[in-house]
Amino acid sequence: GKPVCECNACYAGPHCSVLLPGCIADADSGDPMFLEPFWLKHAASSTIVVPGWHRMSYEFNDGSLLSNQLESQIRTLHAVVGNAVTDGRYIVIGGGATQLLHAAVHSLSATNDRFSPARVVASTPYYPVYREQTEFFNSKDYKFEGDTSVYKNKSVSQGKFIELVTSPNNPDGKLKKAVLQGLSVKTIHDLAYYWPHYTPVPTPADEDLMIFTLSKLTGHGGSRFGWAIIKDEAVYQRMLTYMSLSTYGVPRETQLRVLKLLKVAIEEQGKEMFNFGYRIMRNRWIKLRKTMLTSKRFSIQELEPQNCSFARKVREPTPAFAWLKCEREEDKDCNAVLHSMNITGRHGSLFGAESRYVRLSLVKREDDFDWLLKRMKMLVSQEN
Ligand code: PMP
Repeated sequence: GKPVCECNACYAGPHCSVLLPGCIADADSGDPMFLEPFWLKHAASSTIVVPGWHRMSYEFNDGSLLSNQLESQIRTLHAVVGNAVTDGRYIVIGGGATQLLHAAVHSLSATNDRFSPARVVASTPYYPVYREQTEFFNSKDYKFEGDTSVYKNKSVSQGKFIELVTSPNNPDGKLKKAVLQGLSVKTIHDLAYYWPHYTPVPTPADEDLMIFTLSKLTGHGGSRFGWAIIKDEAVYQRMLTYMSLSTYGVPRETQLRVLKLLKVAIEEQGKEMFNFGYRIMRNRWIKLRKTMLTSKRFSIQELEPQNCSFARKVREPTPAFAWLKCEREEDKDCNAVLHSMNITGRHGSLFGAESRYVRLSLVKREDDFDWLLKRMKMLVSQEN
């Protein structure tokens, strides 16, 4: 029979078809459960079985902590999608992009010199973890210094900079380039969403240090798996040291599962999974945008169609998040306005932006999105 899934918080009953009145439309987290139906359809081909005696050792037979097969599968994946150059680059895997982001900041700042601490910057609005993580680890080697634009067009020769570039950006879905330039600037490109279901992919990214994650690619956030593609050997070595001393590698069970998932993901040259994902995200964006265009009180970001080399045509935007703005002078705390209508988003101030912005997640299950849309329609219809 049909597999039974958990209902989300707004529904109950054996088929999750009973709508609970007054429940909250939760558009807070960026957990990409929209891909769940794809994996239900491919349940058999994506299953792994791990007997008790299997993969017990710390290391693979060659002493490595990264499966050779998995490494080459990652390279094949990027070649198929055309979103990143991997030839002649090193690959380091980690427990999600979260661990790799810190490994990267550590590796780029770990040369103690008279320019320490390195200044870690990102363009607003930025992914909140960049600030939260660097502040939490509280290292003498680096310090979070906020918005990149403060340093734009200024001489950055005094001091070391680490610029975090998120493309497409979380929260607003825009394709981004590094802002700072110069010998004292190192960049980390967080390309978590640089996949055809979230954005047109114009060209393969060819940056010094690029980070990707399984979470946003296949929806398996809970497997905690990400990878970094690195040009410079010394940076690669420092990242390996970081991994080796913090966790001594990524579980081999995880690597086995990821290998299996990636095999399914790139079947038929990736067409099935990416087109499945694109269609869902496209539909959601069209519906939300149509509603928001009738509003004067709220607006969402504008994104341009662009050429997508994966689809070999110009594609419309399909962002993972709506970056909502409250336009009325009195709606200074936009999240509070939404909250009063039982909608939970993520506060703009967390992203280094004004409180009149809120991020709404569009990547959760269909039910979550439907409920969000319903609530937004109600809110907009109350304007007049
Ligand atoms: N970078 C960005 C821009 C993200 O949005 C996220 C997930 N929300 C991450 C990194 C972390 O991803 P992971 O689940 O791989 O730790």
